Amino acid sequence: MALLQIARLSKSYDNETKVLKDISFTVKAGEFVSIIGPSGAGKSTLLRCVNQMVPISSGEVIFDNAPVTQLNKRALRQLRTNIGMVFQHYNLVPRLTVIENVLHGRLGYKTTLQGIMSRFTEKEKEQAFYLLRKLGIEEHAYKRCDQLSGGQQQRVGIARALIQGPKLVLCDEPIASLDPNSSKIIMDHLKSITSELGITCLVNLHQVEVAQQYSDRIIGLNQGEVVFDGTNYQLTEEK
Ligand code: ADP
Ligand code: ADP
Repeated sequence: MALLQIARLSKSYDNETKVLKDISFTVKAGEFVSIIGPSGAGKSTLLRCVNQMVPISSGEVIFDNAPVTQLNKRALRQLRTNIGMVFQHYNLVPRLTVIENVLHGRLGYKTTLQGIMSRFTEKEKEQAFYLLRKLGIEEHAYKRCDQLSGGQQQRVGIARALIQGPKLVLCDEPIASLDPNSSKIIMDHLKSITSELGITCLVNLHQVEVAQQYSDRIIGLNQGEVVFDGTNYQLTEEK
C-alpha cells in the first residue's frame, strides 16, 4: 500500500528556477528508500515539500491518502506528528539533556522548554527510555547533549524523530557530518529500529555505496529531476 505519493511535483523558491521539476514516485508503507544525488540536486527541498516545511509550486504530495497541500492548521500539525525528521546537524538543544531532547520531539516545534520533564507522563518517559535503550545510549540519558559525540547526538536525533510514533521518517543527510565508523552505526540503527517499528524511511544520502547497502530502493536525483528509480543503482550512472 502506498504511504506517500508524489505526483508531478515542481518547486521553485523564486518563481524562476525550478529546483524540482515534475517529480513523480510512490513510496510503499515499510519501504526504506534512499535519495541520492549531488549537492544542489534538490534532495533537501524534496523532503521539505513532503512535510510542508516549504509550499510546493505545482503537483501533488499525498501522504496517507490525504493531499498535504489541502490540510488545515490542525491537520498539518497531525501530519507533522506522523512524519519525523532527522537532520545533518542533529538540531538538538545543546544545553538540554538527552532525555529532554527526545521528549522535546513530542512538543512539535514549540519553543518553551522550561520544566520539560514535568510535562510528560511516566508512560511517555518510558517510551523515550525504550528508544534510547534500543539505540544504545540509555546510559547517557541525563547527560547534556553537548557532551556527546556526533554519532551519539545523531542517535538522540533519531529517538526524537521516533518519539511520536510517526509513520514516516525523513532523514536529511543523516551521516554527512560523521566519520565512517559512526556513519555505519547510525545507518545500522536507523535500518533496524525503523524496520522493527514498521516505520517507512526516506533518506537523503550522497554516498551511493551506503544507499546500496541499506535501501530497498534508490531514487537518483539530478538537477531537480528523477534520473534513476530502482534497486540496482550502477556507480557509472552517477554524475
Ligand atoms: P540538495 O539537498 O540536493 O543539496 P537543496 O534542495 O538543498 O539540494 O537545493 C536545491 C537548490 O535549491 C539549490 O540550488 C539551492 O541553492 C536552492 N535552495 C535551497 N533552499 C533554498 C531556499 N530556501 N531559497 C532559495 N533557494 C534554495
Ligand atoms: P545543508 O546542505 O547543510 O542543508 P544548505 O546550504 O543546503 O546546507 O542550506 C542551508 C540553509 O540555507 C537551508 O535552510 C536552505 O533552505 C537555505 N538555502 C540554501 N540555498 C539557498 C539559497 N540559494 N537561497 C536562500 N537560502 C538557501
